Amino acid sequence: MGTSDRAGGAQPADPATDTPGGKPGRVLLARPRGYCAGVDRAVITVEKALETYGAPVYVRKEIVHNRYVVEQLRERGAIFVDETDEVPEGALVVFSAHGVSPAVHEEAAARQLRTIDATCPLVTKVHQEAKRFARTDYDILLIGHSGHEEVDGTTGEAPDHVQLVDRAEDVDKVTVRDPSKVVWLSQTTLSVDETMERVDALRERFPQLQNPPSDDICYATSNRQVAVKAMASECDVVIVVGSENSSNSKRLVEVAVQAGARTSYLVDYATEIDESWLAGAGTIGVTSGASVPEVLVQQVLGFLAERGWTDVQEVTTANEKLAFALPRELRKDLGGAAS
Ligand code: SF4
Repeated sequence: MGTSDRAGGAQPADPATDTPGGKPGRVLLARPRGYCAGVDRAVITVEKALETYGAPVYVRKEIVHNRYVVEQLRERGAIFVDETDEVPEGALVVFSAHGVSPAVHEEAAARQLRTIDATCPLVTKVHQEAKRFARTDYDILLIGHSGHEEVDGTTGEAPDHVQLVDRAEDVDKVTVRDPSKVVWLSQTTLSVDETMERVDALRERFPQLQNPPSDDICYATSNRQVAVKAMASECDVVIVVGSENSSNSKRLVEVAVQAGARTSYLVDYATEIDESWLAGAGTIGVTSGASVPEVLVQQVLGFLAERGWTDVQEVTTANEKLAFALPRELRKDLGGAAS
């Protein structure tokens, strides 16, 4: 557990009585938060594959970007690899929720791997868009984070047509062949506001820039940002549960601060909370990224309750009901028992 620096032998801070007015503060809990439909499907896919085919089940990359989830699946027999050439010939490999390029499918086929593709259908949708615009010879400006697996997968669908726009300065580096045939697409897990800033800058250069046929930033990413925005201005601190390599979780930290929270922290586990963060805080916001199981949020609420923050109020901005069917490669072996 983290502790605050307390110089000169001062009494330990009691965050609960340090709040304005000396009363225990409140917790605002964002809803929606945590698991999205694509993550839920990907995690269940690995669990069902372990149950159905037995360990080991190889998984290319982290199935979802969450330390706890990956550690739990590893304990049950999943083996996480970076590339398909680390998977023994003929073995079973699951592709992660972030998607893979056609080249990865080809490598797997060449090694006679059995594959289950747990790519989120909303990532697949962006792949389809990239292929469609490439077929009509558009230049595709993909807004996303360099090196992120999803960006690699989408780019791989049309490498000759896609240019990545990550930072603001990348806007000036883009070159297009025909300014009337240029479209922007994006990674699914970006900050909605920051993406629109990139689009505005790109459109200044290319006024005929076309929008994607439908939003690429997925419902889960934008819903979690809307929820954290709704409460951030009332929060002294916003604790975002999520992993360092989770794009949508990191965006929640940024959005919380931009929307008025005094400060915001990303933690994988409640034990990473430094008590000095809580000193003097009246209202603490809590939310979690789309790859985070609810148990980790409950542990954070437990940590706060032990320190006096027992008044938890949920701030609901949307109710999510979306669920995706499991990958068809798995469904056929489950005999139609799974959704
Ligand atoms: S964050 Fe969005 S795109 Fe990513 S897995 Fe979840 S629903 Fe799919």
